[in-house]
Amino acid sequence: MIPQQCFYQLVVLGLLWLFVMLHYAWPSRCMASPHKPAKPIMPPPKRSSDSKPFPGFTRKPPCAACEQAHEHDPQPPGCPPPRKVSTRGRPRQVDTSSHFCPHPHCASRGWVGLGHLRANGHPSGGPWRQLHCTSCDGYFQETHGTPLHGTRVAPEKLVWAVGALAEGLGIRAVARVFEGDPTTVLAWLVEVAEQAAAFSQYFLHDVRVTQVQLDELFALLSAVKTGEVSEAEAITRLSRSPHWVWAAIDPVTKLLLTIDVGDRTLAMAQGVVHQVVQVLAPGCVPLFLTDGFKEYTTALLTHYGQWVQPPRRQSKGPMPKPRWMPLPQLLYAQVLKTVRRRRLVRVRHRVVFGTLEAVQQVLAACGWQINTAFIERVNLSIRQHVAAVGRRVITLCKGEDGVRQQLALYHVYYNFCLPHASLRVPLPQPLPTNGTGSAKTWRPRTPAMAAGLTDRVWTLREVLLFRVPPWPQPAEV
Ligand SMILES: [Zn+2]
Repeated sequence: MIPQQCFYQLVVLGLLWLFVMLHYAWPSRCMASPHKPAKPIMPPPKRSSDSKPFPGFTRKPPCAACEQAHEHDPQPPGCPPPRKVSTRGRPRQVDTSSHFCPHPHCASRGWVGLGHLRANGHPSGGPWRQLHCTSCDGYFQETHGTPLHGTRVAPEKLVWAVGALAEGLGIRAVARVFEGDPTTVLAWLVEVAEQAAAFSQYFLHDVRVTQVQLDELFALLSAVKTGEVSEAEAITRLSRSPHWVWAAIDPVTKLLLTIDVGDRTLAMAQGVVHQVVQVLAPGCVPLFLTDGFKEYTTALLTHYGQWVQPPRRQSKGPMPKPRWMPLPQLLYAQVLKTVRRRRLVRVRHRVVFGTLEAVQQVLAACGWQINTAFIERVNLSIRQHVAAVGRRVITLCKGEDGVRQQLALYHVYYNFCLPHASLRVPLPQPLPTNGTGSAKTWRPRTPAMAAGLTDRVWTLREVLLFRVPPWPQPAEV
């Protein structure tokens, strides 16, 4: 029969094709057994981890940060006292709505915008205003509790020096430029970092994101730079070295959610994910994208997991133990890069939690593929802006704390002060500029503005002068 003949011809052709393909695949050995029954050629089995579903944990992974967290959360002592609206006298000229009374026995202590503060002018011609609290009849300076309070150095000099630090100049270089002592500059940095950390904590909360990119970058060991240890020795010490800078960003708004320094360990990965969870709104489960560092999986499960009772396989016998499994809405993909002789030879993607379709759907909203490009761009920026992480390693900043303080400053500077080129929005009407320059057509935006945390570009001076309230304030009506 003709169809059957055709069929056999096709089989022979198929075998020939197989033969040729095998010849190319194994040029030396394929000649021996080409005449096997025609089997469909299966794609090579993928790596086991690609297809195998995650089996779950029998124990919930513990997180050290979660256990300590609630003790350190600043809690208000009660409800804010009622708002005062003064109808007497002329309207107040100076806005005191971002200030609060610091006096410990005052009923209004720590509450912002209650209308109980009056600006008094500049006592003895000083640079700062004096504020008067009508609740406790106390007085305090407008710089109370900020790094600019009670410094002997001129405020402008301090602001410029901090700006130079934030732009990536080292401590010694700043000391040379501003004709000071490196120890003094370090002391400024310590104080400013405290303010910066409090500022970040006050503003970064309830952030809604759809994606988070996580990465860790290696900060040069100072010992390697000075030739004290060989490079091989340094590499064996890398995993234990506390010089990894961890960062997490939202690639859409470019908001730097958290930045920290520490080991390259599970505990640190958990700590970083914990900080991300603190910043995100409750119930917000974004798509996570990381490199292939294996501890991220457990770290994500620590905070985005739940107990699941697996079904019984047989009709009899005890129920299987419940398993700690990822939340069904959790999506997590890894970008695995193979580097040989410092050259990138291969990039693979691996979906760890969720399906590839779901991951692609989240990314398609931005027209993106699975990538970690944005966090890598931020890493480059960190190297440029944080002297202790970049090429110039400062002896005063060898310790983990020195790096942490520079990172705290950079965290605020990046999120609130530096407009991001890709975030700018066109102005409804071009604004003419002074002189002969072309009209201004774009409104610069910082990541914090894109994320809806603030409505303006902050200057470092404003950040340093901002009085961070001691606890979260009620939302403005
Ligand atoms: Zn008071």
